[in-house]
Amino acid sequence: MMGVEGIIERCEALYDDLDFGDVRAWKRRNPDGKAVGFLPTYVPREILHAAGVLPVGLLGGGDQLEIVRGDACFQSYICHIPRSLVELGLRDKLDSLDGVIFPSTCDVIRNLSGIWKLLFPDKVSIYLDVPQNLEADVGGSFYRGVLRDLLERMERLTGREVSDDDLRRSVHAYNENRRFVTSLYDLRAAEPWRVPTSEAYLLLRAGMRLPVEEHTELLAAYLDAVRAEERDRRDNARVVLVGSFCEQPPLDLIRTLERAGCYVVDDDFLPVTRWYGAEVVEDGDPLKAIADAWLCSEDESACRYVPDGVTKGDRLLGDVRRRGAEGVIFAAPSFCDPALLDRPMLQRALDGAGVAHTSFKYSENTGQMQPIREQAGTFADTIKLWGDL
Ligand code: SF4
Repeated sequence: MMGVEGIIERCEALYDDLDFGDVRAWKRRNPDGKAVGFLPTYVPREILHAAGVLPVGLLGGGDQLEIVRGDACFQSYICHIPRSLVELGLRDKLDSLDGVIFPSTCDVIRNLSGIWKLLFPDKVSIYLDVPQNLEADVGGSFYRGVLRDLLERMERLTGREVSDDDLRRSVHAYNENRRFVTSLYDLRAAEPWRVPTSEAYLLLRAGMRLPVEEHTELLAAYLDAVRAEERDRRDNARVVLVGSFCEQPPLDLIRTLERAGCYVVDDDFLPVTRWYGAEVVEDGDPLKAIADAWLCSEDESACRYVPDGVTKGDRLLGDVRRRGAEGVIFAAPSFCDPALLDRPMLQRALDGAGVAHTSFKYSENTGQMQPIREQAGTFADTIKLWGDL
């Protein structure tokens, strides 16, 4: 069995590989299989899996990619992830993918889907419209149609008819994966010195590349290994990180927060890994079960409508209390409209409850960590010194 160090090394190698070598290797092992990329923050991966498609999370180029041609497609005052994706595509880094799914996260991703179609007309390109009306007979009915359409497109891509039993098996595989991700998050909140967020994050990132079964095994192995290992305990400030649900912060930024004295006890990284508050029902109509899970999810996201009667920020406050957090760090990509438009409402809720918060912005290629270290360090010190006043 691999130890913690070996598991994290493997995850970091996947994180660093902008050539998607693991996807190419998977396709060599599965000559009839197809690989389809998806943009953050959510796609129903169960449907791809059931059709024999490897879902591949596309999270930009991080801080390793120089953007040359990607900048030509976008104005300067939007976030970074669409430029780096176009750059990856134009440099043939994504040629192992047979298509890309663009979920309806924001206007930037909507526009990117159009640009992508023009640049790569031979690849499958799907705009996934998720409902913002959460009533079963309106948004639910609409979303079942969207899921049916997605399933048919995956069937055409692979030439393989998908049965309800295939779908149920895939729902089961992802339910199991979400259970392990939940265990990882729970263990980190209970004993944050045992599960550094930089390691938890690398494990989530590995799930954007690996087949779900393999990723579940990796999570299980990490949890076993880390429970058996003694790790140094520090007097860090417990914080919740909010705003990093789409364009991802560089790994160095997460490590900088930890070095600055913060234990991140909850976050909104890669929400596709744990989107549904509840598990997807494994019997009955599987497409209805996936649609219902979307409608009934209690997760609060800047990309999802909050129904009347629910106050934005209540969920965040609930997370702060449930995780025993002492403060909140808003860390959002520069020019990310959904995250930045949500922030005043979330801050108002925190102010009303007397929860400390601070904020900064980043882009996936942010290189200068010292100002972030100073700001996060000061925030952590303030909580530790005066948090009880
Ligand atoms: S980072 Fe924000 S603005 Fe940019 S694509 Fe993602 S959700 Fe949209």
